[in-house]
Amino acid sequence: MSETLHGIAVSGGIAIGRAELVRSLRRDVPHYLIDAAAVDAEVQRLRDARSAVAQRLQHMRDAAPHDLPADVAAVFDVHIMLLQDEVSAQGVEAWVRERRYNAEWALASHLEEVVRQFDEIPDDYLRERKADMEQVAEHMLRWLQGQSRRSRRAQAAAAPGEGAAPLALVARDLSPADTLQFRRGLFAGFVTDAGGKTSHTAIVARSLGIPAVVGTRRASEVVHAGEWLIIDGDAGLVIANPTPAELSDYRFRQRQHQIERERLARLKNTPAITRDGRHITLLANIERPADTAAAVDVGAVGVGLLRSEFLFMNRQGKLPGEEEQYAAYRRAVEGMQGMPVTIRTADIGADKPLEAAHPAAASAAALRRLNPALGLRAIRWSLSEPDIFLTQVRAILRAAAHGAVNLLLPMLTHVSEICQALALIARAHEQLDARGIARGPVRIGAMIEVPAAALMVRQFAQHVDFLSIGTNDLVQYTLAVDRTDEDVAHLFDPLHPAVLRLIAGVIAEGVAQGKPVSLCGEIAGDAAMTRLLLGLGLRHFSMHPSRLLAVKQEVLDADTTQLSEWAKEVLASDEPAALLAAG
Ligand code: PEP
Ligand code: MG
Repeated sequence: MSETLHGIAVSGGIAIGRAELVRSLRRDVPHYLIDAAAVDAEVQRLRDARSAVAQRLQHMRDAAPHDLPADVAAVFDVHIMLLQDEVSAQGVEAWVRERRYNAEWALASHLEEVVRQFDEIPDDYLRERKADMEQVAEHMLRWLQGQSRRSRRAQAAAAPGEGAAPLALVARDLSPADTLQFRRGLFAGFVTDAGGKTSHTAIVARSLGIPAVVGTRRASEVVHAGEWLIIDGDAGLVIANPTPAELSDYRFRQRQHQIERERLARLKNTPAITRDGRHITLLANIERPADTAAAVDVGAVGVGLLRSEFLFMNRQGKLPGEEEQYAAYRRAVEGMQGMPVTIRTADIGADKPLEAAHPAAASAAALRRLNPALGLRAIRWSLSEPDIFLTQVRAILRAAAHGAVNLLLPMLTHVSEICQALALIARAHEQLDARGIARGPVRIGAMIEVPAAALMVRQFAQHVDFLSIGTNDLVQYTLAVDRTDEDVAHLFDPLHPAVLRLIAGVIAEGVAQGKPVSLCGEIAGDAAMTRLLLGLGLRHFSMHPSRLLAVKQEVLDADTTQLSEWAKEVLASDEPAALLAAG
């Protein structure tokens, strides 16, 4: 019998695949599929890990003082016994042989399966055995991960085998950093129990360009590993164990999507000009320099938001230095082939924490406070760590020697923060000059994503070259709705009259001062919002590349003169959503 779960649609399209459950235990291990020819070698890696860890534990036990407490000695014995257990070894190896998982992934998956079985038996003795198994697996993972990175990378390039069923990822929750671990092309779709539409996890899932549904609350409990799953990323539905009729219906819809994608692809080189002749700038939001390829591919005319904080993640807290950042930003600039790239300084904090190993993470320990989104985040964090900020700004200025670069400051609340940031940027210029290092000019932008900034936009705009509205946070902070919390996801409403008034006010002020205003929150990529935003006077949209052509289609069909009259009505209404639905 099939079971349907309802969640929040965050990335459109239909995925059909076999469920891959990723629970909380080990998401930070590498996940990739290996070639058929590499199966034996991968199984051997597992065996080597087993015997190396067993030998090390035996050695430690032998070298331990004779008065080692009996219970500690017993733990060593149990661990060594588990490592020598042939049944368990074969269980793990089956994941490699049958599914072609890499050794670490196979080990983590097997462990999760076993732990799940143990959890179902209420017995203290077994609970302790569960902890032993986790510790043994941890030892093996550490050993495996200590192996040559190069050989792993070579294997990682393997694509899913010909004819293999696509995989659909199911997890309780994923941090943005976890999400980045999963290689492109590995999963056909994502489902999580937690999360909201504009949580950064959803944004990263969207950047993988695959259908995703978050906030299902119980998918990771209901769905069984290996069963078929339909993910409807448009309707926010997940169907576990679908009937043949449901499968054929969704396969048909999948084909329709494909036809629509092919139709939109023909718009790639069409200039984004409205019916009344207005030129609209359609830009891309990206997380990493390599994403510029996707931006160019859909005909984006620049990058409107490079979320630089993703360069700071998954590095065990070791921050990227100036050279590394310079190389990354330069890659993005060169990737855009002369089109402008807007690099936002690190938006660390809230749901994008630094890993604990870095000293600066102590200040980012704000995350563990009660309201991390109201804490030491983004520009607040940068200003509290001026050396880290200066390093990043120098890298950005150096990249600007290779093409047009804009520097964007996130989460500003007070004019004084702009002034402090500008002073540090001036200092970064001087530091580079003193070292005789080439730099280029940058235009400075202010993100308007806190109500205080929207209300004070007149003063803000006087200090910068352009404005960029971050509606994901503007909605969160205006409506007091946590963007990552599925319990209040239904209250996260970009069409709330208060939000629309703030957006309209910012656009109008930009026009009055001759400062370009772009919008880079998720609504910029929502084709259902395009006409309203055009009517409010928006001319620069920045969105995930996968959304760009659908938005362009709306632009081509629009007449801004008519839309601005209609937008005034929407703005004056208590129920803008109803007017939007009526067209
Ligand atoms: C926003 O808040 O709308 C935005 C674009 O920034 P982020 O989603 O990275 O917080
Ligand atoms: Mg934001």
